[in-house]
Amino acid sequence: MLVTNHVLSGAVIGAAVRRPLPAFAIGVASHFALDSLPHWGEWESESHFLRVAVADGLTGLAAMGIVTRAVLRTPAAGRTKLAASVVLGMAGAALPDLDKPAHIIFKRKLWPDAVNRFHSRIQDEAPHRFVSHELVAATGFALSAAALIKRRGARA
Ligand SMILES: [Zn+2]
Repeated sequence: MLVTNHVLSGAVIGAAVRRPLPAFAIGVASHFALDSLPHWGEWESESHFLRVAVADGLTGLAAMGIVTRAVLRTPAAGRTKLAASVVLGMAGAALPDLDKPAHIIFKRKLWPDAVNRFHSRIQDEAPHRFVSHELVAATGFALSAAALIKRRGARA
C-alpha cells in the first residue's frame, strides 16, 4: 500500500486512540494489516517502482506536514495528547516502509531479513488498483482523520 495511505491511516489511529505510545504501536501493526489487504502494486520495472515510490514518499511527507499543522491548530492541541498521538500514529504507520529509502539512499537495511521477508510475503498487489483501492482508501482515511481531529481537538 502507498506510504501516503499508511500516513493517513496512522493519523486516524492517533486521533482515535489519543495516547501517543499506543498510537505508535497500533500504527506499526496497522502497516502490516493494510499491506496484507488488496492494493496497488506489481511494477513493470525498477524505474517504474522508483517513480511511484518517490512521488508517494513526497506525498506522504506532505500529508504528515498538513496533518501535523492541522492538529496543532486545534483549540485543544495544547491541553491534550492529541497532537503527539496523531504524529506518533503517522510515524508508526509509515515506519516499516522506511527500509526501502534507507537501502537506496544509505545502502543500509533498517530491519532484520526476517521482517523484510514477512513484509514482502504479505503483500497482495495488482497493477489495476490505483483508483479502486488506493484513491478510495486515501479519501476515506483523509476524511476520517479530518473529522476525528476536528472533534477531538475542539475545546471541551
Ligand atoms: Zn509496507
